[in-house]
Amino acid sequence: GTETTTPHIVMLPTPGMGHLIPLAELAKLLVSKHGFTATFMTSASSTASQTQQAFLSSLPSSISTLSLPPVSLSDLPPTTAPETRMSVEAVRLIPAISSALKELKTRHNVVGFVADLFRADTFDAARDAGLRSYLFFPTNLLTLSLILHLPEIDANLTCEFKELAEPVQLPGCVPVPGTEIPSPLQDRSNECYKWMVHHGKKYREADAILVNSFDEIEPDAPKILRQPESGRPPIYPIGPLIQTGSTLDKAGTAECLDWLDKQQTNSVLYVSFGSTGTLRKKQMDEVAYGLELSGQRFLWVVRIPSDAESKNDPFASLPEGFQERTKERGMVVSSWVPQIKVLAHKATCGYVCHCGWNSTLETVAHGVPIIAWPLLAEQKQNAVMLSEGAGIALRLEKREDGVVEREEIARKVRELMEGEEGKRVQRKVTELKEVAAEGMKEGSSSMALARWWRCGGKVVVGVKDADEV
Ligand code: UDP
Repeated sequence: GTETTTPHIVMLPTPGMGHLIPLAELAKLLVSKHGFTATFMTSASSTASQTQQAFLSSLPSSISTLSLPPVSLSDLPPTTAPETRMSVEAVRLIPAISSALKELKTRHNVVGFVADLFRADTFDAARDAGLRSYLFFPTNLLTLSLILHLPEIDANLTCEFKELAEPVQLPGCVPVPGTEIPSPLQDRSNECYKWMVHHGKKYREADAILVNSFDEIEPDAPKILRQPESGRPPIYPIGPLIQTGSTLDKAGTAECLDWLDKQQTNSVLYVSFGSTGTLRKKQMDEVAYGLELSGQRFLWVVRIPSDAESKNDPFASLPEGFQERTKERGMVVSSWVPQIKVLAHKATCGYVCHCGWNSTLETVAHGVPIIAWPLLAEQKQNAVMLSEGAGIALRLEKREDGVVEREEIARKVRELMEGEEGKRVQRKVTELKEVAAEGMKEGSSSMALARWWRCGGKVVVGVKDADEV
């Protein structure tokens, strides 16, 4: 019966909307284009926030969720980096995952196990259950390449990345100054760094690596990563996988769409720092005054500053009278916005963006150029790649103490919306949008998936050139 022949895939995400969203899209694609059913394994940490809970319960019925028994992380110091927590949790979940996989195999034709980037240790559980394991890498080829090379870089590094005189040059990638290397790698004595080096080795045990990127956005890296390399699994850029059918558009969010409806075409700058990014109070003031000075229209998602006195009302941290003075041309919102709808709106023409990879793919898919404001994780090197490589972003100059001043913000905002540089990045992002649209229409991510499925996933592992099969 169908119960046993329908291919079934098991997925293990890490917490965080930027991780859950693209993995869910991968599951949906496998279900809709390739006749799969899927199980999403969740852990206590991935159901910690309401947004994540709501998201997981909104998955279509062809994707089941299975919650793993909680493991304790109480022995980790409170200062432990999130990447370390997720990695430690993965190791402790191995026995539970292993038995869950074996149990699933009695009911389904389980054809593989897909783990998110901080979960590579759980490949051991898949092996124990006799299953192939795949790495899902929700960011780009530049970051993947860095992590894959990290064990070797680490062996030759004699200082911290930020002290390097020369930029880090990965094959086929834009040179990245040491200061812009991802934050979890900036302290080599930190556990988090050691975990990333470990992952760089562990990734090699995957049967294939699926990356949420596409050729045109970082054109030279795929050429190199497509060449088979001994000891490294084949790599499939399967992106752009972008959030579809969001059910997260909660109350209050319609308000910002109503407001956008009333604005002229191509007149509004969208300002958001992602699902977790926060600014310090001092920096938030500069953003507010910068937007005011720019004279442009804006929709700003304000989050409570990390050093705020009032932890309840994000608007309480805005400069005195700001909302009143800008009410004719600006809107501030404090909650989750339906970002896809904002980017797709005809009034939106620019995005002050934290360069999170999902947001980057979304803005590209809608042809909206960026002012890069990276904060966490690999966002700084994404900003380098988007300005120097893809050419779709303007960058901001910082003061010595790291603060971006209001005049600089106003200048770049005007440049993006009215200047020559703005026209240049707009042209580039429009070109990319067209390729991305073509890719999504023809199901190129789906085609790459089919190729992965034929080569790595099902028939043979380690074929010479995946593209020729
Ligand atoms: N997002 C959204 N509304 C918000 C903030 C975020 O819909 O108010 C979505 C956004 O569209 C993207 C994801 O959450 O799909 C954020 O992922 P990203 O990789 O850009 O950054 P992160 O938030 O993980 O730093």
